[in-house]
Amino acid sequence: MGNGIDINNGERSHGLLIRASEGNGIQTSPSPLQKGTTSPPTPLQKRGENYPPLEGAGGGKTLNSPLSCFKAQKLYDAKVMVVGAGALGNEVLKNLALFGVGHIVVVDFDTIERSNLTRSILFRTEDADNKANKAVVAAQRIKEINPSIHVLPIRENLETGVGLGLYRKMDVIIGCLDNLQSRILLNRLCIRAGKTWIDGGIGEFEGQVSVYQPGISCYECNLTEDEKGDFDKRISCANVIRINESAGRVATTPVSASIIGAVQVQEAIKIIHKDEMEHGAFSTLAGKLFVYEGMFPSVEIYHFATDNPACNAHEDWFPAIEMPELSADTKLHQAIKLIKNHLNVESAEINLRNNRFVDHISSRLSNKDFSPLLPESKIADYISHSKELRDLQAEEGFYQHSFENIDVTFPYLFFTLKQVGIPYYDVIQVSTEKGIFYFELSKDKKLYERLIA
Ligand SMILES: [Zn+2]
Repeated sequence: MGNGIDINNGERSHGLLIRASEGNGIQTSPSPLQKGTTSPPTPLQKRGENYPPLEGAGGGKTLNSPLSCFKAQKLYDAKVMVVGAGALGNEVLKNLALFGVGHIVVVDFDTIERSNLTRSILFRTEDADNKANKAVVAAQRIKEINPSIHVLPIRENLETGVGLGLYRKMDVIIGCLDNLQSRILLNRLCIRAGKTWIDGGIGEFEGQVSVYQPGISCYECNLTEDEKGDFDKRISCANVIRINESAGRVATTPVSASIIGAVQVQEAIKIIHKDEMEHGAFSTLAGKLFVYEGMFPSVEIYHFATDNPACNAHEDWFPAIEMPELSADTKLHQAIKLIKNHLNVESAEINLRNNRFVDHISSRLSNKDFSPLLPESKIADYISHSKELRDLQAEEGFYQHSFENIDVTFPYLFFTLKQVGIPYYDVIQVSTEKGIFYFELSKDKKLYERLIA
């Protein structure tokens, strides 16, 4: 008998049927929705051959694994961004390191807490005691697993931490997020960058994976009006500060994180091998939803509705003009001047599409005024660091005054792009009398040289 397992999606009442079979491949029989659309099975690898060393970027050699059409060199050359380094992010990162994916960006602003330790393979007690950052620690630990890979931790949030230029260099983005707002933003960023992203979500006994590929499927297209309304309200309602993003988090377990993280990475590995995919070696979950239910075990795959042409998220930011003299450290007045000269236009307005810039907040009843001068995504943190502000927020709430666009009338033109919330190596949208243009902050590319060379 072989040492593999064959998972048949049996009748619901029988749950998952797992039995030993010949060979060491893993086969999942298609759900009824998939029937007639599956690709030919992956050829099974002969047993008894040695696994290559993890460093084994073996000149395009095939990995000696059950998934034999995956190539070590391709995996080593691949660039994958993981957004969120919680329970799910830990599993995803561990798997990427084991596979030998050579260039990994990990993004998370949060610090490690004791409660994370029961479901996060990469975190230790001392990390929680030291209040260490999730992205930084996760990056260190996967380097220990596989020292040959390059890992860049970004200790920032999604709005201000990662420039669109970096997204554009990735082969695939993996979302390990725990809230709707961040998923909507990540979906928009990936569509602007023309990149596929793999969303994972976990609960206590269940989880799901979806693959969103521009032109095929879109996270926002599949939201209800209520869910979308909540995000649009946040975008359009500039005055009242909302601090709610982490509310309503659900219980998760290491088991659901393992299962869903594994499926996400398997999808990522297939996307990295898109040439093989085009030849029918396998198919992906693009445009589909994979749902695992563990209490009454079942695995189902559903198709998404087709893209809605009226969806707000569908905007690819191409072409982007590369500007070697522009950086997130450039002052705003200089950036506007450079752009005007480049386009030969009279007016140029930088549109802050992810994050407004907040210069004042005032308490709603007592009218006390504060000047955070920060991107909107950092305001909750700003409030949480002062007892006076925390008390006022709880009792009265705040109004805010903010900017969505920056032109020559902006009062803080001596701020840098970074100070108003634009990340390094971003692509900025600029409105002019000749239309809308996109500019890449190409000077920042050197910050990521080792990763994207
Ligand atoms: Zn859409």
